[in-house]
Amino acid sequence: MFSFTIFARKAKKMTKSTLLTPAKDPMGAAIADYFKHGKAARLRVFSSQFEEDEIPVSQLFRNLDMMPAIEQKALQLAKGRILDCGAGSGCHSLALQEMGKEDVMAIDISPLSVEVMQQRGVKQVVQADFFDERFVGKFDTILMLMNGSGIIGKLQRMDLFFQRAKQLLNVGGCILMDSSDLRYLFEDEDGSFLVDLAGDYYGEIDYQMQYKNIRGDEFDWLYVDFSTLSYYATRNGFKAECLYEGSHYDYLASLSLV
Ligand code: SAH
Repeated sequence: MFSFTIFARKAKKMTKSTLLTPAKDPMGAAIADYFKHGKAARLRVFSSQFEEDEIPVSQLFRNLDMMPAIEQKALQLAKGRILDCGAGSGCHSLALQEMGKEDVMAIDISPLSVEVMQQRGVKQVVQADFFDERFVGKFDTILMLMNGSGIIGKLQRMDLFFQRAKQLLNVGGCILMDSSDLRYLFEDEDGSFLVDLAGDYYGEIDYQMQYKNIRGDEFDWLYVDFSTLSYYATRNGFKAECLYEGSHYDYLASLSLV
């Protein structure tokens, strides 16, 4: 009986539509407030694995100069027809347009973010889930930034992610993705590494956000170390390269179709 209940819950989670509605779109509401009023209340982040935290909403509106080197590098390398996947306020799409890389399409599951992106002047914006096969198109670069691997959710979805990317990439195309190795959170002072090898992968985090009284549903967010990412890339016909390492276990990877 007990295991059946779990199965039923899982099945429901897999089949429900992943596009958000405004009533369950806390980050979008924060983005919309900041866009309209130049300020926002606290965007709170909860996780069963960490203490409560918050995302500074102003940082979601960063321009090219304010972006970390990893992101600047990704924007320099992006070429051809570009998909900005999980685009948020549209900061990367706008920076690309300003750099003269005008063929950019921004997608996001957040209806409120999509509206803001349209108003800010992102030329091609669609409310879409990357994993939804009804979203079609061909791109030379798929950009996934601000822990872009997060959208994959769980390690077990890695193959699905690469198969989906294959459908969306032109020959010779590549994914530019940033992520972090969370092992520093589990490392002891002497450098020993305290994870349960039989347990879930240590980069799998559950999150939930709240903005004012808008509380979103819980979602899975994946942080992945470069060697694990390479393993999945290779077995799906992609070549993984670490292009740049940041100062805090973060890195920029290119994943190109071979
Ligand atoms: N890239 C932006 C926003 C990062 S936050 C920046 O760097 O500022 C992650 C964004 O991904 C959120 O706006 C969220 O709504 C969006 N997102 C999450 N899952 C998605 C999916 N499956 N498909 C498309 N967008 C997704």
